[in-house]
Amino acid sequence: MIAVYPGSFDPITSGHLDIIERSSALYSEVIVLVAVNPSKKPAFNLEQRVDMIERSVHAAGLNNVRVESFSVGLLVDYVEQSRGQVIVKGLRAVSDFEYEFQMALLNRRLKPGIETVFLMTASEYSYLSSSIVKEIARLGGQIEGLVPDTILEQVRERFAGLQATAGAQLVERS
Ligand code: ADP
Repeated sequence: MIAVYPGSFDPITSGHLDIIERSSALYSEVIVLVAVNPSKKPAFNLEQRVDMIERSVHAAGLNNVRVESFSVGLLVDYVEQSRGQVIVKGLRAVSDFEYEFQMALLNRRLKPGIETVFLMTASEYSYLSSSIVKEIARLGGQIEGLVPDTILEQVRERFAGLQATAGAQLVERS
């Protein structure tokens, strides 16, 4: 059975990788689908996000996982065209539930043959999101363990310039 795990992955976190690993044990093939969200300005472009997931998946030795990107159209149409039967979602907290519940019902109405399956977060990643990682990196905090080791440097570098700018502003103001 083919499962599709969609998200913005800006960037992939250890919580995402945990969901990918667990799905890859449940399904014969997992497609991690990096979606373009026109209302968000990502820190990493589509190509970088795909590449970071590919490196993480490769380092984790998962060979039934592939990474694709998706910019236009309905998720359920993509899933159907890829011969997928399942959409995988991660759930962290009750706050994720309402939106995910609505999307799952909507997607089932659009394509009744496609099921949405929810995997509960690992307790150690329940607080983790891409936005939290970016926030910590931007403020110069330690992100080791929060993102896969293979992308650690790239995330640090992306925000290193911003810290310098923030630092310069502080110096100027004082
Ligand atoms: P984020 O909310 O981190 O910006 P995405 O939109 O990329 O993430 O999330 C893609 C999917 O991964 C969603 O189903 C989301 O609920 C799930 N997810 C994100 N972070 C975690 C985590 N720490 N544990 C479990 N699932 C997660």
